[in-house]
Amino acid sequence: MSYLEKKSIEDVDVAGKKVLVRVDFNVPIKSGKITDDTRIVSVLPTINYLLDHGAAVILMSHWAKHKGKKTLIYTLAPIAERLSELLGRPVAFTYDCTNEKAHQAAAELKSGEVLLLENLRFYDEEEENDPEFAKELASLADIYVNDAFGTAHRAHASTEGITHFLPAVSGLLMNKEIKGMGPAVGEPNRPYVAIIGGAKVSDKIFVIKHLITKVDKLLIGGGMANTFLAAAGYDMQKSLVEEDRLDWARDFLSTDIAKEKLMLPIDLVAAISFSEDALHQVCSVDSVPAGWMALDIGPQTINSFVSVIQAAATIFWNGPLGVFEMEPFAGGTFAIARAVAASPAYSIIGGGDSVAAVHKAGVAEQISHISTGGGASLGFLGGKILPGIAALDDK
Ligand code: ADP
Ligand code: MG
Repeated sequence: MSYLEKKSIEDVDVAGKKVLVRVDFNVPIKSGKITDDTRIVSVLPTINYLLDHGAAVILMSHWAKHKGKKTLIYTLAPIAERLSELLGRPVAFTYDCTNEKAHQAAAELKSGEVLLLENLRFYDEEEENDPEFAKELASLADIYVNDAFGTAHRAHASTEGITHFLPAVSGLLMNKEIKGMGPAVGEPNRPYVAIIGGAKVSDKIFVIKHLITKVDKLLIGGGMANTFLAAAGYDMQKSLVEEDRLDWARDFLSTDIAKEKLMLPIDLVAAISFSEDALHQVCSVDSVPAGWMALDIGPQTINSFVSVIQAAATIFWNGPLGVFEMEPFAGGTFAIARAVAASPAYSIIGGGDSVAAVHKAGVAEQISHISTGGGASLGFLGGKILPGIAALDDK
């Protein structure tokens, strides 16, 4: 049995129960205003399902990267407000997640009511996966639901520890992610093509090592390609190259499997400086102008990548192929986005910037599965067992 065969909220009776749901409400907030509520909207089906089935719903989330600071800059209060608008019903809020007030609010919560707890990261114990803290959270409810796919790659108190104290099942978003990525796990339809880009190779070495064993072709672009090209002996000038990964990259390039499956850029768009209005030109990988930097893949690379994409049956893409935030260096990423969208293959895209690029290119509708979790989707398809899923009750 696969570690992915887990109990879901559809497998348990939630009527009259207090259900504690771990969600990912780590949304962008600027001066108290939520600028993108996608992550809130994506868990509405789970919340509505639970309410419709007679549960009292207690929600918990982390927000932002900060350590144990209880300051209102990091409060989830604006999220409670937005959630209430989206649900069309009141959402109670407690300015803590474990104190007496939180216990009282949870105890008084009735079927059909919703309560949001304060930012879990007000406590260092959350990221430390402290068992006492996990037990404390568990004591608020009868059933635990994990619907935070985006944090499933981390073993924290609210994603892993808590499962030791309550019946633990997956939510609808979690189910959708597992199902959506399914076609690229196990025995994918072939050819299976992965496209990996982004700034740094160091973030994604484990993924590259795993994917090369799974895919038929691995296409690499973006900043990370520069490290491989430098390892292959090209002078990348001022391009982003990770000197401390050159040895690894050289070893990797010398393997038979990489020789067979890996495709690197053959030409690039190089610029005189890292800016939107910098002088730039197409060059082959062996002629980056002195003192310039590679910021996108070139037209010949696009053509060769596109022909591989057109022939694919399964595609996984993570990481932009250039600095797509600047118009002169977005061409490669957008061309690949359009090719993936037009391909009849089953396509999966994960990663914050990659997903933003696909939306910007206007082709998101034609992608088979767009993951809500960057690191988690990378871990999932990079062959890692995600603790947040593994810890749930088996089916
Ligand atoms: P994702 O969020 O999709 O996982 P990453 O965070 O790994 O992607 O990488 C995205 C970043 O990589 C973008 O900000 C982009 O500008 C940068 N990037 C892509 N190509 C280059 C390049 N050639 N040089 C420098 N940065 C690059
Ligand atoms: Mg990113």
